[in-house]
Amino acid sequence: MELRNDPLLGRSVIVAPGRAARPHAFAPQSIADADPDCPFCPGSEHTTPGELLAFREVGSLPNSPGWRVRVVPNKYPAIARNDVVPNDEISGDTSICEPDCVQPAYGAHEVIIESQRHVEGLTGLSDDEAAEVFIAYQQRLQAAKADDRLRYATIFKNVGPSAGASLAHTHSQLMAMSSVPRSAQAELDRARDYFDRNGRCAFCDLIERERKAGVRIVEETDELLVLCPYVSRLPLEMCLLPRKHSAQFEQISAESLAHLAHVLRSALTRLEAVLGRVAYNYIIVTSPFDTLSTGHYHWRIEVLPRLTTMAGFEWGSGCYINPVPPEEAAAMLRRRQLAASFRR
Ligand SMILES: [Zn+2]
Ligand SMILES: [Zn+2]
Repeated sequence: MELRNDPLLGRSVIVAPGRAARPHAFAPQSIADADPDCPFCPGSEHTTPGELLAFREVGSLPNSPGWRVRVVPNKYPAIARNDVVPNDEISGDTSICEPDCVQPAYGAHEVIIESQRHVEGLTGLSDDEAAEVFIAYQQRLQAAKADDRLRYATIFKNVGPSAGASLAHTHSQLMAMSSVPRSAQAELDRARDYFDRNGRCAFCDLIERERKAGVRIVEETDELLVLCPYVSRLPLEMCLLPRKHSAQFEQISAESLAHLAHVLRSALTRLEAVLGRVAYNYIIVTSPFDTLSTGHYHWRIEVLPRLTTMAGFEWGSGCYINPVPPEEAAAMLRRRQLAASFRR
């Protein structure tokens, strides 16, 4: 067993291979079957809030069938645009949590419906269809960025109930907020600190180290690297990084977006080849909108398969227990095959 720390991302993990042998410790969690009353299937457009963006067949009308990708406000938002403009100054003692440490939760919560077909994830789409989804991601991030009250946004995808998905039909979500969450700010501060001390981006250095080591690399192209992080919190966790320094996902070219969609689909196809139908999240992590200098930060996509659950130790300590060393995970993903030692 090994305790691994990631000083940049602020993560600690106990890599404990023996635990994979425990009953259920490595069982893929089931994902929902088709929902006959799916609000995201064509013909149900009237059941969602009005569309913010749609890629449509010529001649089709808004909020009616004929779309390929459709973006709508979340019907049950966690955060919303309202009349209250957040106050930058928080009153009271900010070193402890007290009732004054509160701001209106101004923001945007959108749903990107990725296909009119009732499929479950990116692997159910073609490369061209997935590329269009990524164009929608980028356009909605740019729209959020145009609202100068919003500072931070993330796009994420939940596949399967154990990954937080309430609907099976393939979709992602965008959440944009008026402030940068504490944990994200702490990561940005550490990246800035590394850059100030070394004159280089910590993520660019990480890419160089990982390419030399090779053992955690799943897939590599001229533009992108897919690896299992040295401090992987979850079994078969993957991280996708642009090889060339780039801080803002919303600024990458259309060609790079199409290539990214292809490589992410390929990584998810590998995951499904190893595990079968599996619940997972992916998250696009990018710079806050108002970042002026971008030399210290590097966008990425994290892929988080949901094979294990967070239990008391993880909640209490913030430290994860991962039964699959990322070096073995990367080998399995490269071979597209579950290693014999994990078969039950
Ligand atoms: Zn559907
Ligand atoms: Zn970089």
